[in-house]
This record gives sequence, C-alpha cells and structure tokens, in this order.
Amino acid sequence: MARRRALQLAGTLGVAACLAATAPAADARSGVGVGPGDQGDGSGLVAPDVTPAAAPQRAARVFHPPFWGHGHGRPDYQPGDPGLGDPYFPLEGNGGYDTQHYDLSFSYEPSTDRLEGLAVITARATQDLSRFDLDLQQLDVDSVTVDLRRAAFTRDGQELQITPRKGIREGETFVVTIRYGGVPQTIVGSPIVFGSPYGFLHTDDGAFQGDEPNAASTWFPVSDHPQDKARYTFRVSVPRGLGVVANGTLKYHLDLAGRSLWVWDEPLPMASYLVTADIGRWIVRQGRTPGGIPEYVAVDPVLPDVTTTERGVTQTRTAVDFFYEESARAADLWVKYFGPYPFDVVGAIADNATYNGTPLGFSLETQTKPVYSAVRSSNTIAHELAHQWFGDSVSTRTWDNIWLNEGFASFSEFLWAEFTGLRTAHEQFVIDYSRPATSAFWQIVIADPQRDTMFASAVYRRGGMTLQALREKIGNDDTFFRILKTWTARYRYGTATTAEFTALAEQVSGLDLDEFFRVWLYTPGKPTTW
Ligand SMILES: [Zn+2]
Repeated sequence: MARRRALQLAGTLGVAACLAATAPAADARSGVGVGPGDQGDGSGLVAPDVTPAAAPQRAARVFHPPFWGHGHGRPDYQPGDPGLGDPYFPLEGNGGYDTQHYDLSFSYEPSTDRLEGLAVITARATQDLSRFDLDLQQLDVDSVTVDLRRAAFTRDGQELQITPRKGIREGETFVVTIRYGGVPQTIVGSPIVFGSPYGFLHTDDGAFQGDEPNAASTWFPVSDHPQDKARYTFRVSVPRGLGVVANGTLKYHLDLAGRSLWVWDEPLPMASYLVTADIGRWIVRQGRTPGGIPEYVAVDPVLPDVTTTERGVTQTRTAVDFFYEESARAADLWVKYFGPYPFDVVGAIADNATYNGTPLGFSLETQTKPVYSAVRSSNTIAHELAHQWFGDSVSTRTWDNIWLNEGFASFSEFLWAEFTGLRTAHEQFVIDYSRPATSAFWQIVIADPQRDTMFASAVYRRGGMTLQALREKIGNDDTFFRILKTWTARYRYGTATTAEFTALAEQVSGLDLDEFFRVWLYTPGKPTTW
C-alpha cells in the first residue's frame, strides 16, 4: 500500500500507512520530502522456522487422491496449531494444513450491508489432523462440512475450530465448506494502521476491501497469512445493475431475475490480504498494455477527471483513462527493471470508498488489480504496481519482513520520479536522507519495525534509501538490477525473508555487504558510513 499524507478522519490519528486516510484533494505528492517522525524501538530479529519458498507449478487443478501406506505407520491425530507463529500476528494463518483453493460464493446487499456466503476451501493436511482452525472474525457460521460430511465447530475469538467426523491423514487433500453470513465489520481504531479504518468498507453503491495485514477474515473464513497462498474463484451475486471486480480474470457475468452473478478467477497463488471483490457501479476499460500485458481497469463513475503535469505538460483525462494509461505505463516499465510480469492481467479498481459517509483515501496492491480510493497520482499507481513483484509474487514470509514490500515499492517511486523527469533517484535519496539525525524517523529498525509501527514512514522511505544506497555502493546498474530480477525469479509465488535478500545481494554482487546491511537494516540511528 502507499503511505501518503493524510488528513484526519474524526477520531483517527492522522497519518496512516497503506490505508491512509486522506481527503480526495490531498493526494498527489506521495511521500516526497521529510515526513513526520514515527516512534518505535524495534530490536532483534526473529528467525522464522519455516521452509524456503517453493514456486508452485502452473497447472490445472488436480485432485490428489488421499494416499495411504507411505510408511507413516499408525495415524497420530492432533489438533492443528491456531496460528503460524508470526512474530507480530501469532494467530494469523493456521497450522496442520496448506490451503490450495478458495471457491468463495456470496451475495451482498448494499441496502443492508449483509453478506451471505458459502466458502469451499480445498486444503492438504501437513500432519495427521484431529481438528483444525480457520480465521473468521465476527460473522455467523451456520454449518460446516469436511468432505461433504457435517463437521462440529466452535468459535474462540478469531479462530473457527473445526472437528471433522474422522481424522485427516497427513498428505490427504480435503474439502471444507462453510456456510456463513452477517454484516462485515470495518476495523477501526487499530494501532496497526494508525487508527485508519481498513478491511471491509461499505460504500454508497456496494463494498470495497483493503485487508492488509489481517482483515480478510472479516469477510470470509481463511488461513489469513501470506505463508499460506492459494488460488481463488469468486462467484458474487449482487442486485442487478451493480458490478463486481475481483482479482484475476472475469470468467462470466449473468443477469437473472433482478440479480447479477459475477464469476472471477485468480489461478496464481495469492496471499489472503491481497484478495478483493469490489462491488458497485463501474466504468470499465480493457485491452493490453503497449508491452502486451492484458489490462482491466474499473472506475467508479462518480470519480472526477484527473489533471496531471509531467515534464511541463499538463493534461486532463477521465479517471478511467488516467488509471488505464498510467497502470500500463508503470507495469511495462517495471517489466524492464524487475523481470517478467508475474500475473495474467494487470489493472486497477478505483472506487469512492467511504467510512460513515466520509471519503477515505487509500490504496492497496490487491493482486492483479490494486484498489484505489481518492488517488490521483501516477506515483501511487507505480508504487502499487511495483508491489505485484515485491509483496504479491514474492511475499513477506513473516510480517517483520514488511520492508521487503514497502521499501521496494518506495524505491520504485524513486525510479518513477526518474522516469517521469521529476528528479533522479539519487536526488530523491538526498531529500529523504536530509532528515536530521535527531528525528524519530531514524529510530525504527527496518528489518524488525515492530507490529504497531510496521507501516511507519521509515519502513517505506529508509527501505527505499537502502536500495538506492545499495545501487550506488555496487556502482553498476546491470549488477544491481540483476539482484532484483534474480530475487523476483527465485522467490516467485513464494515468500522470502530479509536474510534471504541480503544473502542474494552478496551472491550476485560478489561483495561483502554485512556491514552495509547491518547499518541500514538492523541498526537504529541515521547511517553515516556504509
Ligand atoms: Zn505499499
């Protein structure tokens, strides 16, 4: 998400992270110049005990029959862990299984804000399971089945605990269905995004979702952690006249008896916080970018024209043309810098998101189509599209590695400024670096910024500075961008850590960068030599 200058919503703390609360007119200059200080006293790194990223093969979905007799001996059925042990969000995600596919059918009524859903989740057991959890906040659960047999369930906070009628063997693929419903609740007042409302937002004509890091479970049952990526299909029923725009590709749309059904499919692995299925009225423009990437842009018809100035030339475009053209330009540019575009389609969903009737400014890098509200800056589009490589395809394995998303997307803004002729990346580094050494900005440890400051401006701007400083230290753009391209290739569709990035940078550059990364990523204070 883009961190932007924020105007306050009543009762919020002002500057927010990716889900920044801004008035429509306030968005334009994204993070340029010296930002407000942020508090934080991160120290120490948590070494996550997880296996390295695997790049799943692209293939049609295959049902694997349960396997038996692999030398497992007698089953030892145990409950799966309630979380994946993330240092910042220990209960997000769930242990004991790996989700493969979510088939999310739901209807939504803008007049009552009610959602009625049927989630069909295919998963593979990674241990012998007597019981397992999904994450689900607030909504009511009517019934659960496992492999078509009714299963017992209980609720414990955000944990939906499911006990199948019989144990599930390690390696077995199983299908869970959950019938659920209610009014999804927007998360308000959480320190994680500085108090700004986020998650499921009810808009004038439908709904808008921006779920990073932990709000997907406010509208569907999910293993809500980037370590457990899956493929998604959406079947959304809305009153006729409204449209739905979700991740991936539109499969079909059907109008029947006062309802519209929209079916979308994202066949590539996706982290749960990147899921979106926005509901409302839309102007759609689709085609291909000049570089050949299929593109789908949907814009709320109430959005006004956008006037931009670049290299002294001012132009005014309709909102749909602005998002279409700038998204195409950014996606094609990033292919040159970061390697092949990782997904099937690129685009944008630009809505007029509101909370209690107040327009909200925010943007989030929802996979294939970032969501935007009150955004009029190509810089923000460039940021969210850079996340398709850094964050969406290569995801943070645990949330303490968040600078791998936001630092890289912010560095992309440095490149965008260079591309649009605003200033060079070095000049942008100098501007960011000019913050006085006494600023609280310098006290955040980028490699472990702590949960409630994980979206502090330092994670973005010092993260971006780290990459520009690395680029200048290496002194050879071929080598530097080979690091980024190797990174996006090696960890494509998987997850990664800061330690894996620093090791890769040393490997590709042939330099000893221990001191460099110690100063920039692991040590509070303003770097002076590196
Ligand atoms: Zn971002």
